[in-house]
Amino acid sequence: MNAHNKDNIGDNHIGTSVDTPIIAGAFDKSDDEKIQNIEHYFTKIMEELGLDLNDDSLSGTPYRVAKMYVKELFYGLNPKNKPKLSVFENKYGYKKMLVEQFITLDSSCEHHFLPITGHAHIGYIPTDKVIGLSKINRLVDYYAHRPQVQERLALQILKDLQNVLDTEDVIVMITAKHLCVSSRGIKDKDSFTTTIEYGGSFENHKQREEFISVIKNK
Ligand SMILES: [Zn+2]
Repeated sequence: MNAHNKDNIGDNHIGTSVDTPIIAGAFDKSDDEKIQNIEHYFTKIMEELGLDLNDDSLSGTPYRVAKMYVKELFYGLNPKNKPKLSVFENKYGYKKMLVEQFITLDSSCEHHFLPITGHAHIGYIPTDKVIGLSKINRLVDYYAHRPQVQERLALQILKDLQNVLDTEDVIVMITAKHLCVSSRGIKDKDSFTTTIEYGGSFENHKQREEFISVIKNK
């Protein structure tokens, strides 16, 4: 791929698939091994930029970045870190919409490795199963902590919730600011991006309106 095409895919934020593209055997190495390797490569990047790694302030940066990538920003790449989505019997027989809103979202753009920050709002209509509320937040956090495309992030959350809740009646809305849009490229500080994914009864315009009116009531 030539440099122009590389820029183009990034600036247009084009994603290619619902599943995050991951190589076979991606997690055969331990976290410690990965941190050690990334520390080595990041040292090379800093040296190439002309930085003096003998400086006390800079010398630990490659290690800090490596640890941050593996343990924090991208912990959600490794399936072993996925939260257990325990569901419960819907004992109250609650069959109306439930909304978990303004879930803090911290992610990273896969095209530039820069932060995406915002909120996720999630609604579902229970059948026989309900899910612990904090599990929804944990699921958002997990998928957010990998290099992402906002559209894919919403889809990954939607599909998992539809699976565990055994219903299509789920809606996921994400509103987020992309640092790669605000601090480079077009450098627009104010715009943000909204994506909405849904299935089942949320295909119905009225059901979506109800969801959106709940979110507006902050
Ligand atoms: Zn980007």
